[in-house]
Amino acid sequence: MTKWVYSFEHGKAEGDAMMTALLGGKGAHLAEMSSLDLAVPPGFTITTGVCDFFYANGKQLPPDLDGQVEAALERLKAVTGRTFGDAQKPLLVSVRSGSRASMPGMMDTVLNLGLNDVTVESMAAETGDKRFAYDCYRRFIQMYGDVVMGVDHELFEEIIDNAKADAGHDQDTGLDADDWLSVIARYKALIREELDEDFPQDPRLQLAGAIKAVFASWMNQRAIVFRSINNIPKDWGTAVNVQAMVFGNRGEQSATGVCFSRNPSTGKRGLYGEFLVNAQGEDVVAGIRTPQDLTEEARLATGSDRASLEKLMPDAFEELERNVAVLERHYRDMQDVEFTIEDGKVWLLQTRSGKRTAKAALRIAVDMAEEGVISRSEAVCAVEPATLDQLLHPTISEGAERDVIAQGLPASPGAATGEIVFNPDEAEKIAAQDRPVILVRVETSPEDIHGMNAAQGILTQRGGMTSHAAVVARGMGKPCVSGAGMLKVDYKNNTMTSNGRVFHKGDVVTLDGGKGQVLSGNVEMEQPELSGAFGTIMEWADEVRRMRVRTNADTPKEARAAHSFGAEGIGLCRTEHMFFEEDRITPMREMIIADTEAERREALAKLLPMQRADFVELFEIMAGMPVTIRLIDPPLHEFLPHEDSDVEAVAKGMGIDPDKLKMRATALREFNPMLGHRGCRLLISHPEIAEMQARAIFEAAIEAGKRTGNQVIPEVMVPLVSLKRELDHVKATIDRIAVDVENETGVKLNYQVGTMIELPRAAIRAGEIAEVSEFFSFGTNDLTQTTFGISRDDATQFVPTYEAQGVVDRDPFISLDLEGVGDLMRIAAERGRETREELKLGICGEHGGDPISIHFCESIELDYVSCSPFRVPIARLAAAQAAVRHRAGKTS
Ligand code: PEP
Ligand code: MG
Repeated sequence: MTKWVYSFEHGKAEGDAMMTALLGGKGAHLAEMSSLDLAVPPGFTITTGVCDFFYANGKQLPPDLDGQVEAALERLKAVTGRTFGDAQKPLLVSVRSGSRASMPGMMDTVLNLGLNDVTVESMAAETGDKRFAYDCYRRFIQMYGDVVMGVDHELFEEIIDNAKADAGHDQDTGLDADDWLSVIARYKALIREELDEDFPQDPRLQLAGAIKAVFASWMNQRAIVFRSINNIPKDWGTAVNVQAMVFGNRGEQSATGVCFSRNPSTGKRGLYGEFLVNAQGEDVVAGIRTPQDLTEEARLATGSDRASLEKLMPDAFEELERNVAVLERHYRDMQDVEFTIEDGKVWLLQTRSGKRTAKAALRIAVDMAEEGVISRSEAVCAVEPATLDQLLHPTISEGAERDVIAQGLPASPGAATGEIVFNPDEAEKIAAQDRPVILVRVETSPEDIHGMNAAQGILTQRGGMTSHAAVVARGMGKPCVSGAGMLKVDYKNNTMTSNGRVFHKGDVVTLDGGKGQVLSGNVEMEQPELSGAFGTIMEWADEVRRMRVRTNADTPKEARAAHSFGAEGIGLCRTEHMFFEEDRITPMREMIIADTEAERREALAKLLPMQRADFVELFEIMAGMPVTIRLIDPPLHEFLPHEDSDVEAVAKGMGIDPDKLKMRATALREFNPMLGHRGCRLLISHPEIAEMQARAIFEAAIEAGKRTGNQVIPEVMVPLVSLKRELDHVKATIDRIAVDVENETGVKLNYQVGTMIELPRAAIRAGEIAEVSEFFSFGTNDLTQTTFGISRDDATQFVPTYEAQGVVDRDPFISLDLEGVGDLMRIAAERGRETREELKLGICGEHGGDPISIHFCESIELDYVSCSPFRVPIARLAAAQAAVRHRAGKTS
């Protein structure tokens, strides 16, 4: 026989906190609290298994459920001394939903169930309070009529309004027993009129109806939408909790409320919450009455003239404080508790881990570890890494008004305000006058980099989370909204249009990069505050972390920022980004359009000192820490102008024939440049580029070594390798240049040559490639692109639909596809290490800053992850959590 019903009563329970899948969160924790000897109204939980049965069997309950409910009601009779349906000493119950994940207010609840024309009189006699009894009864008819019988809630409210008008009061509290009696009569008449049936008087019928209604509410529209937003599976189902009623509406020494064991905004220790005197749960939900503060401190802070619970019912307040402290210690986490006070006695109705801001999470974790409630490792695991983003950038103030112009992707977090500008040169000019700008582009290209650098934030109409704009903005730590498809950017007229609203150059907008929103006007912001708790958690994270955390940085500015966030080296320096700077793009273009090798070398010679100087600076900033420099990766056509007008201007600037430039650009054009002449392919066909870059790296290493006194051991990385022989080829060039530089300088070099693993063939043939490669860095952007065969730049056309339709759980360009791309990584790591035991393994794709992906990297024992500077703290924390959980997994 399936057990459908689990009872709980003071001191003992059939369930416990581990059983949330079967009993739902509320049920599991009611059981746990009962076992802890806390004051929980006794009751029972009907399992989520019944919900499954209900939906699998045309909304029927299991035939043997009745018997189990009867047995549970018998137990309740034994502990409460009350009998369900009894005319003299009736047991009244509440019927509440409770799914595995918290879905606040989404499903239905019925209170005061068991009242009828007879039991209400017993209640009146027993309590000596007719008004109270009739009020309870009319509340029950109203909730039951609405939730179970489907009569419009508003119709009940109208009756109360009429009753208040008749009695000449504007508050419910002004109504007396007779008023409520007449409301009850009108309610019953309303139900009869609406449904042509009577409100049920039989408590067992009432109970069966309420149980069914709560299960049915799992599929109401609100709940469906909530689940889809919060990724809660439909098949989890809800449980139903039936409990003996306690009454918060029992008079002036009764109340109902919610409290957190610590302040969920700041993390400050001490109760924090609200309550209503003489009220039931639905009064709080209805939000008609303004709740009062729990503590005096909070009351003073809000300037309220209404008494705190601490003042009003000091004994109950203390009891609540004691109970909540027990819960917090037991669960080792900040709790969010629902309570009712009946005639001065405190009852706990629910507990769960409290939601909190990132700032509060840090403070709570550190305080609880220092109070000895949790260990340091637990504190490290108690903070959600992704939420640290909230602390590193300015953010839109809570409660600020948002006039959303357009919605795009949250490509780079933080908020920025400025005048919109559609051209990078202009962005630079206006920014130079100390006027903040937002650079708006259809999409960005490397040529826009100076404008992006000058702007406070970047907005694009097209492009995904790994588009140029997104990657570069994250690197710069600037807010970016990409792929705002509803926006039409018109360069000719310097306007952008969304939903018929036209914005002109100079209009002020605010970007919320964390939400992907474009807001009209200057919206109020909060500046980041790296509190002491932030530093402490980071320190503790570093103590338990195994993997190293490096950064992807191409400029000294990025390298410095990353260093200040705790980066332990550079995992990826994309050298091509250095060629886009204003003074370098011309010699770069000269190199590309050169007709002879001699001309090409001449142009490269101009680039050499610039690259060398860049590298010296990076090596110096990273002082002794590893730096991986990747040789040029993108196809050459990216460096040439495309628009006719640009071709003219560039040719003029270079003093060459525009036709020649145009021809070269056309000749270099590819159908699919991502899969074209790039990476090592380019380095093999143009070895002089590899030579120049290798020389710049080695000479810089020697110079930085001299300056700092620390020998620099550069890691030279070759992109887009799929064949061992490709790497052989490029490595031979690098080694040859090393020998040249050693001979010229008389200094012995120490360096490593390795490769990106970013193509499936490279992953599969990793054993062979490791014969020449001293390290692997997983380029998971390209590896995702090539494993799926999805262009990284076009993925936004359909991946969001895939996510919405549940075809993929997460965008694989944001969070590693563990089964596919992850498996290739696992294969590459295993095969690579088989060949070369000491092979160094890292990741430098965007996934290197994504917590779930970082967990996976720990599981295949990578040596480091590398991510954009502003994600370094997130990666440090996520790597620490991965290490703690991985160790725990190994020992359990
Ligand atoms: C990658 O492909 O993951 C990578 C880091 O290289 P890029 O993004 O520069 O192609
Ligand atoms: Mg790549």
